[in-house]
Amino acid sequence: MTRRLSPDQQGLDEAASILRGGGLVAMPTETVYGLAANALDPVAVARIFEAKRRPSFDPLIVHLPSAEEAFGYATSVPDAARELAAAFWPGPLTLVLPRATIIPDIVAAELPTVGLRVPAHAVARQLLERVGLPLAAPSANLFGFVSPTSAVHVLDGLDGHIDAVLDGGLCTHGLESTVVAFEAGIPIILRHGAITREQIAALCGEVGEGARVLERPLAPGQLARHYATRTPLRLFDRADQLPEPAATAFLIVVAGPLPDAQRSGNLSARALSPSGSLTEAAATLFAALREADASGALELRILTCEDHGLGRAINDRLRRAAVRA
Ligand code: AMP
Ligand code: MG
Repeated sequence: MTRRLSPDQQGLDEAASILRGGGLVAMPTETVYGLAANALDPVAVARIFEAKRRPSFDPLIVHLPSAEEAFGYATSVPDAARELAAAFWPGPLTLVLPRATIIPDIVAAELPTVGLRVPAHAVARQLLERVGLPLAAPSANLFGFVSPTSAVHVLDGLDGHIDAVLDGGLCTHGLESTVVAFEAGIPIILRHGAITREQIAALCGEVGEGARVLERPLAPGQLARHYATRTPLRLFDRADQLPEPAATAFLIVVAGPLPDAQRSGNLSARALSPSGSLTEAAATLFAALREADASGALELRILTCEDHGLGRAINDRLRRAAVRA
């Protein structure tokens, strides 16, 4: 049984003590729920891979309470990384930097680098301060499936396989952190996320994208199929491309109102943000995918959004969710 802890003093103490003992605790962050373990304990970290059924080639992000502590786990820090940290930490940004030897191989999937992040969520911060250890934490879901934005989502996938979940309610961003590496001091976006390319470019000027030469995916977000629903999912760029409503279809419109022609006739039709706010859409995207997946629909139809700002991260998740195994 997995214990559900309140994020009060007692719950936080309990969570910290589980983590010190090598156990697993799911914690809320501003992006999605993370499945945390002591990043310096390879056995504890191995339990994360086991619980998530995550392949061992997939490195974990290490969470710290401050930039100063985070950079202590890197052997060198480019100026651009310091600027990004000053602007966006605490927040939904992961910086991939050369790793200090104290970070175990299993955390980094044997890569010479480590992903570091200072989360903004009050509960995550309190837990990090209380436990006094760096916490390795990937999203708290079974590998390859939709990320969890509530404690109930975490339990859906991992109940019985982890020691506890700190229930901090719903996550505000609902999209994972943006993962940024550096080549010759220039930021390279490995995974789009809650901090947009535009925000990074405004600060650093030049920004690259994707890992250029990869023998294997550097970020699992780069795997073709990820964030997958069990129900087949089809994407549409424009409302006029949507098929006729069908009693077996669940329609999700990411940004903007439901098209008139789709208001009735589908099993369900949902607009994530009728006003067209990408922030609002991102916050409810994963919950809507889970709900649609559980609805009994035979097909999920999604009207995507424009490919800029947060829309790039949203569409990226949807494209990977739509790839069938
Ligand atoms: P998840 O834990 O499921 O949110 O995914 C964490 C993301 O951070 C993945 O895309 C990882 O591959 C990425 N990541 C963590 N550490 C590294 C690293 N050293 N190099 C590249 N990507 C990393
Ligand atoms: Mg994940």
